[in-house]
Amino acid sequence: MHLPHGHLGPVSHEAEDFAAKVAALQAAGHQIAVHAQGERAIDMVLEAFAAAGKINGLHHRLEHNALITQRQIERATALGVSLGFFVDHIYYYGDALPDIVGSRADRYMPVGSAMTAGAVTALHGDHPASPIDPLRSLRTAVERGSVSGQTQTALGQAVSRGDALRAMTLNAARQLGQADLIGSIEVGKRADFTLFNASPLTSDWQDLTVAGTWKDGQPAHTGLSSWLRPGPAWTALKNMLF
Ligand SMILES: [Zn+2]
Repeated sequence: MHLPHGHLGPVSHEAEDFAAKVAALQAAGHQIAVHAQGERAIDMVLEAFAAAGKINGLHHRLEHNALITQRQIERATALGVSLGFFVDHIYYYGDALPDIVGSRADRYMPVGSAMTAGAVTALHGDHPASPIDPLRSLRTAVERGSVSGQTQTALGQAVSRGDALRAMTLNAARQLGQADLIGSIEVGKRADFTLFNASPLTSDWQDLTVAGTWKDGQPAHTGLSSWLRPGPAWTALKNMLF
């Protein structure tokens, strides 16, 4: 990343100015999502959310959260602020993180702590910051591995496959205030779902591929090659049905 050790970037907003923007957006009924990585920026956001007062129905969002502290996680949870994590950093920058953030690498992207604290915890990509690949995000939240395979970052923050999957589906829907519409396969919700060729909870990662996606009950991306070879998709469908 070409950043020197101990790098300290300028914050993008003045605190007062930022708090005024948050208050105005909240008054207009908007959900606010702020992308922040460092402790100073996250403090500024939480201050502004707290000053704006009780959030009515809409829960504001903190996104990325690379260096959010335990105290900040607890404060966000108490304020009803959801926490989204951009775990691709661990995959792409994992080997370099100790040089960039020092010992703070040991608590980098604390997905596990956020879940334990009871925050609505989600995982996201941030394309074009990294290539779109939800399966990579899922696996990284579970294994915390770098692209080289040399480094596992803050392994104590790893979550189970089930929790990672929930973070990318149901929790993400809760984050948007749409848990009654999307996020899980249930009667009464929109039929938006992904069909894997095998169980994402148990199969080997390298064997796991997407056979197709559905939106509003219609095939959206059928992974043409997998349907030209319908065996894996049909097997997965049968496993789900019977
Ligand atoms: Zn961002």
